[in-house]
Amino acid sequence: MTAASDRLAPGSTIGILGGGQLGRMLAMAAAELGFDCVVYEPEADCPAGRVAAKCFNAAWNDQKALAAFAECVDVVTFEFENVPAASLAFLEARAVIRPGLKSLQLTQDRLVEKQFIQGVGLQTAPFAACDSLEGLERAVATIGLPAILKTRTLGYDGKGQFRLSQISDVAEAWAALGGSPAILEGFVPFEREVSVILARAVDGSVAAYDVTENVHQGGILRTSTIPAQISDALGERAVAAAAKLAAALDHIGVLAVEFFVLGDELVVNEIAPRVHNSGHWTQDGCAADQFQQHIRAVVHWPLASTKRHAPRVVMTNLIGHDVDGLADLAGQADTFVHLYGKRTVRDGRKMGHVIKLHGFG
Ligand code: AMP
Repeated sequence: MTAASDRLAPGSTIGILGGGQLGRMLAMAAAELGFDCVVYEPEADCPAGRVAAKCFNAAWNDQKALAAFAECVDVVTFEFENVPAASLAFLEARAVIRPGLKSLQLTQDRLVEKQFIQGVGLQTAPFAACDSLEGLERAVATIGLPAILKTRTLGYDGKGQFRLSQISDVAEAWAALGGSPAILEGFVPFEREVSVILARAVDGSVAAYDVTENVHQGGILRTSTIPAQISDALGERAVAAAAKLAAALDHIGVLAVEFFVLGDELVVNEIAPRVHNSGHWTQDGCAADQFQQHIRAVVHWPLASTKRHAPRVVMTNLIGHDVDGLADLAGQADTFVHLYGKRTVRDGRKMGHVIKLHGFG
């Protein structure tokens, strides 16, 4: 396909793998640009399916459903990196996939991801793979304590993670993982956590948003504040590091890179090959948000401006019953509420977020 014929016209259909809130906000951004979306998600009644033209509720290994999905879309993207690689490989033979399989395969296993990050010359926490209790004991002897034990795959929002403070925690943490392959990471005594959200286009051009400072509680993102309290020089290095990772992945679309900051050191914590919770502030903080930017990249349109239009922006996640305070929040000045349409509230479940613009207008 030539570059020009590859540019999708409004009215084309975008397939989204995954039906959570990220897929929902992608589908809404796509609709604003005149595209239809078809969602593929194993769970029924998903947040994205309810704003899409069509939703396939089928298992990830259902080849008949995957083939039918590929038939009715012009390009495929994904809202989360835990789509099984085999499903994406099956689709790749039938459809254009952006970002590609490489972005997914190098980020869905923490061990592979950390090796990749070091391979492009960037710093990570010290780490060691462990496949048994004995392996974990050896890793603790090498890396030391405190440390964090994480499942290699399928972890999110602090799930599948155990902090080890003393040697007596080791057996219990290993048992809690239930035998899943894991990595042990040295604990990084960071001063702050920041992330870079950027988009990379088909032609390799990159547009990055302002560096975001993130606060997590219990492994879940609580707030994102922009600008981050770091020097311009460090911010530029963070953006350059994220762009280097995006180029090494041949990534097309939005990519998020989370860093720990210690003095003038940047330690890469995690790469997300997709739109990211720490980029939600762009919805009200910028003229074109990360969701529109991702859609533009995957349909091969030019990227939009990433300019911020308030001096300070704070995004706060509504987690579990935080959402009960909605009426108060919605009435506050320069405060904008976004909800994901989830039917039931559960502790630790992301229900929505609030964006407050400071010094706006
Ligand atoms: P993750 O799911 O790996 O992004 O971890 C969630 C959060 O746990 C991070 O944003 C940090 O706040 C904390 N965390 C994870 N790994 C480490 C580490 N190696 N050292 C210190 N804190 C960590």
